[in-house]
Amino acid sequence: MIETEKLQQVAEKSAEQRCIDPSCDARFELNERLYVCPRCGGLLDVALEAYANADPEGLRAVWTSRLASFEPRDRSGVWRYRELLSFAADAPIVTLGEGNTPLYDAPVSAAYCGLNALALKHQGCNPTGSFKDTGMTTAVTQALILGARTVVCASTGNTAASLAAYAARARLQCAILVPRGQISNAKLAQSLDYGAAVMELDGNFDDAMRVIRELAEDESIYLVNSINPFRIEGQKTVAAELLHQRDWRVPDHIVVPGGNLGNSSALGKGFKELRNLGLIERLPRLSVVQAEGAAPFAGLFESESEVLKPIEHPQTLATAIKIGAPVSWKKALRAVLESAGSVLSVSEQEIADAKAIIGRDGVGCEPASATTVAGIKQLVASGIIGSDADVVAVLTGNILKDTDYAINYHQEKLYTHDRAADKTKEERRLTGTYSNPPARVKATKAAILEGLRRHEQEHSGNI
Ligand SMILES: [Zn+2]
Repeated sequence: MIETEKLQQVAEKSAEQRCIDPSCDARFELNERLYVCPRCGGLLDVALEAYANADPEGLRAVWTSRLASFEPRDRSGVWRYRELLSFAADAPIVTLGEGNTPLYDAPVSAAYCGLNALALKHQGCNPTGSFKDTGMTTAVTQALILGARTVVCASTGNTAASLAAYAARARLQCAILVPRGQISNAKLAQSLDYGAAVMELDGNFDDAMRVIRELAEDESIYLVNSINPFRIEGQKTVAAELLHQRDWRVPDHIVVPGGNLGNSSALGKGFKELRNLGLIERLPRLSVVQAEGAAPFAGLFESESEVLKPIEHPQTLATAIKIGAPVSWKKALRAVLESAGSVLSVSEQEIADAKAIIGRDGVGCEPASATTVAGIKQLVASGIIGSDADVVAVLTGNILKDTDYAINYHQEKLYTHDRAADKTKEERRLTGTYSNPPARVKATKAAILEGLRRHEQEHSGNI
């Protein structure tokens, strides 16, 4: 233990916020309340320089010993790896026992993709049902350190639900600002229960962002948007937890959904830091999969252009990744290129079918998460991933985040948003390739046995 406290002190001393643009390279104190680089407007990283004397074996042993501890810091799948974080040993941490998410073997999904084996790291098993919790525990802890009274975000989705929960835990006021009419029910329900002030604004998303920037000038208000570098810090520990679960065997490929690209950025940073620490010798190839109606990052990757071209009206039923101008694209691009990964897009039909297949492994996820399995299927078909490769897909949200989607798919009532004038409603309907609708059956033993026989018959041809 003394060993780790020493490590942590070294980390504390040499951590700083740093502009990610190498031509700027501005550096700032850890506890300066910044959102972007004040010099050039670029994104900020939290940089740790404590790795020179790292002891990989010692770190592994400490992290493993914490699995048997009941201390909240050790129970958290983020704070268990606190040597990777910039926070002081006595930081007022705000935790809900995040992380600790399962790594499932998924044989049905593997066969569907053409792989011998596939593992699913299910970040939807976090306390509020999405991967956002691993970043929110660190961002809200930072809000406390900075003395904020109120935390704010502009989202109706997983971010809002997560921030509302951690703010409640920290006894901070939480404001969720959204354009009127943009609220989705399942996720809104969470924010309301966690006691957040949910405010519907007249105007569009840009108006919401403008108001938020003005609010953030107030010292008592801390903005927890997706460029907040302390969120990335928490999220990067997923790399450590995943490798710990695999006894530090590095997968060949890791595949994640791409929306705002904070998750890809965080994983890339996590793996790179673990390599710098000597815990692993190589990086897994990090690939990002987007929905084709919201794929500006895939467009950038294909065009080999230098600058991301935003999509004005992104469209996908996978609402968690319905983002036209991903703020973290520079960090994500860096991570993909450094690891020789790929960026690709998949159709709405591919997402819907992949989601149903993941379900057949007994694993439920929200639509955005299923882009991974759909993308892996493409990457195997094109030979980028070999059938015997060691592949991990990261699922980002729980199935209960969007039950309407699942019900509509299985009842063949799922329609894409493609509003092209020449398309009829029927043409916009997605096929329930692996649909499993409920059946109406008489309340007799014979009818139920017959129903089971028919169900088995109807699904025997499927995976
Ligand atoms: Zn800068």
